[in-house]
Amino acid sequence: DFTNAALMASRRAALPTGMGQAYEVFVERAQNAEVWDVEGKRYIDFAGGIAVLNTGHNHPKVIAAVKAQLDQFHHTCFQVLAYEPYVELAERLIAKAPGDFAKKAIFLSTGAEAVENAVKIARAATGRQAVIAFGGGFHGRTLLGMALTGKVAPYKAGFGPFPAEIYHAEYPNALHGVSEADSLKTIEHIFKYDVEASRVAAIILEPVQGEGGFYAASPAFAQALRALCDQHGIVLIADEVQTGAGRTGTWLASEQWGVAPDLITMAKSMAGGFPISAVIGKAEIMDKPLPGGLGGTYAGNPLACAAALAVLDVFEEEQLLARSNAIGERLKAGLSALAERHTSIGDVRGLGSMIAIELFKNGDTAQPDADLTKRVCAEAIKRGLVLLSCGVYANVIRILVPLTASDALLDEGLALMGQAFDAATA
Ligand code: PMP
Repeated sequence: DFTNAALMASRRAALPTGMGQAYEVFVERAQNAEVWDVEGKRYIDFAGGIAVLNTGHNHPKVIAAVKAQLDQFHHTCFQVLAYEPYVELAERLIAKAPGDFAKKAIFLSTGAEAVENAVKIARAATGRQAVIAFGGGFHGRTLLGMALTGKVAPYKAGFGPFPAEIYHAEYPNALHGVSEADSLKTIEHIFKYDVEASRVAAIILEPVQGEGGFYAASPAFAQALRALCDQHGIVLIADEVQTGAGRTGTWLASEQWGVAPDLITMAKSMAGGFPISAVIGKAEIMDKPLPGGLGGTYAGNPLACAAALAVLDVFEEEQLLARSNAIGERLKAGLSALAERHTSIGDVRGLGSMIAIELFKNGDTAQPDADLTKRVCAEAIKRGLVLLSCGVYANVIRILVPLTASDALLDEGLALMGQAFDAATA
């Protein structure tokens, strides 16, 4: 009996509570920006597997590349017997990363692992221990990832103690009263109250906070951080796990900064759903850990490398960066029109196609409306639209639709969002 309800009952019996699930839906198949569940119901996918499907479900070029690789070999462990696609992928990602300096790249399996490795590399390169991250940031569910993450419930609650020497500054968030000057002041406070700048190995930030609520740091803020890092010999790490691979309208969001981070982490959409992550960065920093200090059994798996190379081709062939910006404009226009009918929508924002709306009671930004956010998502899934919420106040609805989605599908999704809002506020 493969109904959603029956499968949910089995799931509840067999899986722990800590493994969350946004919707009580079990998938049978998917294509591009559409999904069908085990009962044959169709959904429009505005979640993209949490920012993983910028090239859509089952992109034929990605699938063909993985199948071809599968016919050759699927695992050797790169540290034992190497393979060409890994090196080609490193070369191509290096060429696309900002910064007028020699770079190198290493591959891991998950976003959290990429973050862990970036911090390991920064510590090895500087001989320092401390790391500054930001409140509201999300960097993964490993011990160091949790420590860097700036949100207690649900990510850190009950899981301590965390690694020492992690400090949190405030992320700039004008909508909630934190200016960029305020944010920089909190870093000065860390230097004054907690740890001297000369002991800080790295500052890590998301160019646009993902799980934290789609708040973007401006190029001016990134430039101020760059100057601070240069002044004190600190490694600047851009966590582009969610922003990377074209989501913000450029291949990497940090391309829009006008200054380059020393290290960049990527994962998610870089291989269209096959598990691989990357650290790309300044060669002199990347080369500091000893041989064998970096890597992993599955790290840079050949099937995922083949997928990632195909994703790069698809971005060029289908001009997905331009499409990312066009999708962002279309979504913003549709959501702004919706905000005129629904005063609860207090903000429509985004960079490229990384678009979000934020919900407040009576449109009052002092009263985030997490309940309404939940109700809108629940009404949307009933109508066949997969939405994702996020945000430190759980009052943000974010859109991470495949960049390969048609205008007709985007419009259909926007119309369903409108119906979901009407139902949730009736
Ligand atoms: N960093 C950022 C910015 C992320 O958004 C995420 C995942 N949401 C991670 C790290 C962790 O990635 P993973 O779940 O693949 O470990």
